[in-house]
Formats: sequence, C-alpha cells, structure tokens
Amino acid sequence: MTGLSDSFQRPINYLRISVTDRCNLRCMYCMPAEGVKLLSHQDVLTYEEIYTIARAAAELGISKVRITGGEPLVRLGLPELIWMLRGIDAIDDISLTTNGILLSRYASELKRAGLRRVNISLDTLRQDRFEFITGSDYPLSQVLQGIEASRSVSLSPVKLNMVVMAGINDDELASFAQKTIDEGWHVRFIELMPFRGVSTKSSQFVPVSQMRKRLEVLGKLEPCNPSIGNGPAKYFRFPKAKGTTGFITPVSEHFCFQCNRLRLTADGKLRPCLMADDEVDLKEPLRGGVSPLGLKRLIEEAVTSKPLRHGLREGRKPRAGTITQVGG
Ligand code: SAM
Ligand code: SF4
Repeated sequence: MTGLSDSFQRPINYLRISVTDRCNLRCMYCMPAEGVKLLSHQDVLTYEEIYTIARAAAELGISKVRITGGEPLVRLGLPELIWMLRGIDAIDDISLTTNGILLSRYASELKRAGLRRVNISLDTLRQDRFEFITGSDYPLSQVLQGIEASRSVSLSPVKLNMVVMAGINDDELASFAQKTIDEGWHVRFIELMPFRGVSTKSSQFVPVSQMRKRLEVLGKLEPCNPSIGNGPAKYFRFPKAKGTTGFITPVSEHFCFQCNRLRLTADGKLRPCLMADDEVDLKEPLRGGVSPLGLKRLIEEAVTSKPLRHGLREGRKPRAGTITQVGG
C-alpha cells in the first residue's frame, strides 16, 4: 500500500510528467488549429527541477512515472531525464507516451537509459487520414517504424492508443483489432474527450458500447488481465490473438473512483485532476529555495485537493489549458 492517499482514501502512486507543451503534430482532438500560446524557455522546468520533484514525490509514495507532453520526444536530451529518474530507488516503472514520429531515432537510447515501455498514439492506418487527423504531412510509415523499433528493443508492452471518432476513423476499428490477432499489437480504443477550442464535435463521440458492437465481426472478446499498466483500461482478447484489445472510457464510464494519479505540467504546476482547473505551483517555490520538506507539503496539498470525480457527463469542462498544456 502506498504511503500517499487522497481525501477519499484512494492510493496515489502514479505521476504523469509533461516535459513540454510543444508538439510536432496538431491532432484535431487535442490541439486548436490556430495553435496555442507556448511557454517560454524559462517557464519550463529543467530536468534537474523535474528530478527534484519526482524524488520528493517518490519519498511520499509515488512509484510509477510516465513522461508525456505535448510531444515529449521534441524536447532535447530526453534519455538523460529517463536516466536521472531511473536513479530514484522508489520508482520502479518509467514509461512514455508519444506520437511515435521520432521514436525510431530514440528507441534504443531510451531503452538503455532505463525506459521500460511506451504508449504510441495512432488513430489511423491510412496516410491521407493520418495527415487530416494530425494536421501534418509526416509519413505514417515513420510511426510504424517507431512501433517496430520499440518492439525490437523490448520497450514492452508497446501499446497503441486510438482515439475513436465517428465519421473520421471509426470504420478502422476492426482493422486495428485485427492487428492484435495478426501482429500481436496491444491496442486501446479511447473515447473522445471534449476539450475546449479543438475542432472535434460532440457528434463525433463514439461510446465504448458501440465500439464493441463494431468489433463483433472478429469474434468474441474474452476479458483478460494482462496487468501491464497503471491506468483505467479494461482489457480483452480475441480468440487466438497474442495481443490485447483495451477500452478507455473517460466519458461513458468514468473511472475516477480508482484514480491513482497526479499530473505535473511542463511549467511546474501539480494538477490533481486532468479535468479540473485546480493546481499547486511547485516551480516558484522550487526556484525560491523551498526545503525538501516544504516541497513535500505542497505535493501533499495537491493530493488532498483531488476531487472525487470529474463532471464531463454533466457537461463540466476545465476552463483553462489544452491537454498539451496540462499534459495528456
Ligand atoms: N504527444 C503524445 C501522444 O500523442 O501520445 C503525448 C501527449 S497526448 C496529449 C497523450 C494522449 O492524449 C494521446 O494518447 C492522445 O490520443 C490523448 N488525447 C488527446 N486529446 C484527446 C481527446 N480529446 N480525447 C481523448 N484522448 C485524447
Ligand atoms: Fe501532439 Fe499528442 Fe496532442 Fe497529437 S495528441 S497534438 S501528438 S500532444
């Protein structure tokens, strides 16, 4: 049992660290087409500052860390941060969420630095759609090479995250699921979350119940428990599939009752909940010379202020910040 728990007795052992708000893609569900105001270089935590926060959090009970963004691989020297975090005894799992564009270049260096596994966002297997969804002209093959590079250096399990959108990519559900059978992919289908300022619409939302119906053509999904993560996905397997099919339901079945996480933004704010605006600033106290104990008290303050649940189904959205600013 972790040493850290919130006001609702949920154990908190997982920290998601956003290392940048910058990204080389403009995914339609994530980034406003006009872009966002980016943080200045001085506002972004240095790797040393991230390390100091992670160490204090680990001393309180955090044992799992995920690096995210923005796109974490656009920040220079990321393997160095992984290497620093690996040196914190209490942290036993370091993972990365990436769009995969730069992954084939860095996979083996990341593995050597101590990264254990990766989640790669991939919403389509078609080049034309890839360009449409990501607002970029990168070749989709670059992401596929990133997947292969990660598998070849055993950054495993490699999980693929697909945000499902009606009329955009929902006709590819079965093609992705087929990859769990033919190629042993671990695919997770994610319900579209309604962030402010992005170009997706509520009519594009596909509930997991509908996703599952569409997959019936491939056979019966058997529940399985691969215990390969810290998150809320529910996992299944098609008969004879080596890979798994997971579903993440932030909207239709919120999983707040089992929430175990905190989020650190690139500019040093600790967010108790992705969907709420509350945050505790750690950067200014850190730069002002806060003591290790003072830093821990601030982390505990964020944990104590974790809300019981988000209000997406009731139409409540966070006021400020896109997911790239908060850290996805
Ligand atoms: N750039 C990296 C990537 O794309 O994997 C990491 C950051 S991204 C914000 C983290 C995750 O958030 C991705 O898996 C992405 O699919 C998911 N995400 C972003 N906006 C979303 C939305 N509106 N609904 C559901 N998932 C979303
Ligand atoms: Fe960038 Fe990831 Fe957001 Fe796409 S989902 S715009 S890759 S941060």
